Amino acid sequence: QKNSFGLIGLAVMGQNLVLNVADHGFSVSVYNRTAERTHEFMSGEAKNKKITATYSPKEFVASLERPRIIQIMVKAGGAVDAVIAELKPWLDEGDIIIDGGNSYFSDTERRTKELESNKLRYIGMGVSGGEEGARFGPSLMPGGTKEAYALIEPLMSAIAAKAPEDGLPCVAYIGHGGAGHYVKMVHNGIEYADMQLIAESYALLKSTINPAPEEFHEIFTEWNNGELSSFLIEITAFIFTKSDDKTGRPLLEMILDKAGQKGTGKWTSQNAIDIGAPVPTITAAVDARILSSMKKERQEASKILSGPKNNYADERGKIIAAVRDALYASKICSYAQGMNLLKRASEEYGYNMDLGEIASIWRAGCIIRAKLLDDITRAYRSRSDLPNLLLDAGFKHAVQSRQASWRFAVKTAFELGIPAAALSASLAYFDAYRSGFLPANLIQAQRDYFGAHTFERIDTSGVFHANWKEK
Ligand code: NDP
Repeated sequence: QKNSFGLIGLAVMGQNLVLNVADHGFSVSVYNRTAERTHEFMSGEAKNKKITATYSPKEFVASLERPRIIQIMVKAGGAVDAVIAELKPWLDEGDIIIDGGNSYFSDTERRTKELESNKLRYIGMGVSGGEEGARFGPSLMPGGTKEAYALIEPLMSAIAAKAPEDGLPCVAYIGHGGAGHYVKMVHNGIEYADMQLIAESYALLKSTINPAPEEFHEIFTEWNNGELSSFLIEITAFIFTKSDDKTGRPLLEMILDKAGQKGTGKWTSQNAIDIGAPVPTITAAVDARILSSMKKERQEASKILSGPKNNYADERGKIIAAVRDALYASKICSYAQGMNLLKRASEEYGYNMDLGEIASIWRAGCIIRAKLLDDITRAYRSRSDLPNLLLDAGFKHAVQSRQASWRFAVKTAFELGIPAAALSASLAYFDAYRSGFLPANLIQAQRDYFGAHTFERIDTSGVFHANWKEK
């Protein structure tokens, strides 16, 4: 009796996905480079489930039904190539390899081409939702060999999260080559922006009205009941309730203010610049993590450089409401940037992405799941070629009606010297996008002045160059 699904890489994500797959009635074979990890898994949670341990690539492949469906969940980079190289000698024509890790999309492009040329099928699949998502329902973003998707679809639909609004599984074929991993990368870029916007909102409230942890919990809980409802706001509300076992103080206050990162946010910004799509809120979030990591230097600088001495004088209710509005309007701008990056990438790489479908599979299971994604799904469903989310009637109203308090929140941050790079990047994006005129005429004049780069005119078509030194 052979198994219907195989998974390689039994770290956190792999183990939880295997348990999820097994719970849905599929028989699974597992393999991990270090056998010890397999032993531990098999004697722990995998016990008494339809899970078979194997201890070599050959034994692993031989234990699977054909065409084989093999998912790899190992560290992104060389490990994926190493695992593919180990598997290849044992595979047969038509077998499917799925890479569910956070691989860089161009690596997935390369691997898809290589494997397809060997008559194998390759799926690069973004998986989001962390440990819990993997166990009980992740959001899945598969791309790659299209005809392979039909074969893995029943299993993926079974294990994926289901959107609360309509019960649909959070999985859809994204496009050829690295399209799935591209979408996962942008998902993570948006996640960085969401987290930074929330962190700046927290800082703004802390430096103005300094709520106690219980009040912070109440503020975020209330926000989570409205338009900001999302996984990240929900866990943030929860974070304020946790005490440190060692000191009894709020755990949040005991955590060093140095943010880590694994690189997917950076990749998003890098690629966005490469293909010419502005994502200033995401880039501000990546920069903010880098600045935070310079803790020692910041501590030294704080002894030398000082900011304004202003005290916040307005009432509590006003600032809480303004920060809420600023957070929501900024979040809309950040999603507008992320969705536009996908649109641009779809043109650049020929992915033929369906933005409404992508928004819809982010509605549950993944880290950025939010009420807002229902509205984004609707916006693209009603107009698939929407040039920008800000032009959708609902989002236009949502942002415009919050403009005054959004500006008040950002102005307060600037006046008090509170860094609010992501909130203000979103506002500047909104202001630039809605400007029929930008000062790029001066940039063009400068470029033409020093480099004879030429310019266009507002009154005549053609390309011009001026002799600037001649008055
Ligand atoms: P890790 O990224 O920590 O990877 C550990 C696994 O990779 C182990 O099974 C390890 O085997 C294997 N491995 C490492 N190098 C090699 C190699 N050269 N050859 C064979 N196997 C190797 O595990 P995670 O579960 O955290 O993540 C798996 C993938 O999923 C990653 O790409 C990650 O970015 C992505 N991901 C992770 C999420 C998370 O929340 N953790 C969320 C979404 C995606 P061994 O036991 O032998 O060391």
